[in-house]
Amino acid sequence: MSTEQLLDRALGAYLGFACGDALGATVEFMSPKQIQKRYGVHRDMIGGGWLNLEAGQVTDDTQMSLAVGQAIIDHQGWNIQAVADNFVAWLESNPPDIGNTCRRGILRYRDNGELFGLPRDDDAGNGACMRNLPAVLATLNRPDNFNAWSLQQSHITHNHPLSDAATLTLGRIVNCLIKGLDMDVCKQEAERLIGQYGEFAYSPYPGKASAYIVDTVQTVLHYFFSTDSFESCLIATVNQGADADTTGALAGMLAGAKYGVEQIPERWLARLDQQIADQIRQQTTGLIQLAGLL
Ligand code: MN
Ligand code: MN
Repeated sequence: MSTEQLLDRALGAYLGFACGDALGATVEFMSPKQIQKRYGVHRDMIGGGWLNLEAGQVTDDTQMSLAVGQAIIDHQGWNIQAVADNFVAWLESNPPDIGNTCRRGILRYRDNGELFGLPRDDDAGNGACMRNLPAVLATLNRPDNFNAWSLQQSHITHNHPLSDAATLTLGRIVNCLIKGLDMDVCKQEAERLIGQYGEFAYSPYPGKASAYIVDTVQTVLHYFFSTDSFESCLIATVNQGADADTTGALAGMLAGAKYGVEQIPERWLARLDQQIADQIRQQTTGLIQLAGLL
């Protein structure tokens, strides 16, 4: 596989993630029926939603990912304090939305200097999993670093075995996809997760798409493995509603890594916040360089 292909898939993953965030945010917290009644099929990046966003605007999912990515690039490697500092700066920038568990963890660091919380039952949201792509990209050839970096950044806010397992699994699947490995290898990663924690089983699809990491992962894997293009994967995912910006972002990450940036519909790329798209392009190059692949 050429470097060009690898970059195309890595950029596809990151831009695909942001597109899913911006597309899904419109229908976040809606039910599939409410979406159908209002939009028929929701398929355009029109903004609005409960956050009253501009068309193409992204939310915490993309912003927190960029915070992780910038810390890695600024320090040319891992610096957990820098990641946490970027989260604090982001929190204090008055972002459009922030999850409760994220807020609690970031304030714990800001006020007490603690880089992780003790395990908690209510830490099983998707807030750590949703921001891990930069760690995946920077460690494409270093699985040990991938595990350590992923879990450290996760535990700033979320410390729960289901969150940990999902974050590592989705990261490994993205890694396989960017390297152009067979889909069977990706499915094996999903099967390994289900072998470890049976609640992640996504077939038959239970139909819940909440921010609970189990619901999120089921939705993302179900639609990723049952569609055959970037566009159909994202549209199917976000029309499931609920935590649609985050399921959309994670589905966009997988589909972008599989199909490459070429398959992201031009109407979405053109609408996506261009400042965010520029940062994503710069970070992707920097992170792949750091992985020793450029
Ligand atoms: Mn969000
Ligand atoms: Mn969300």
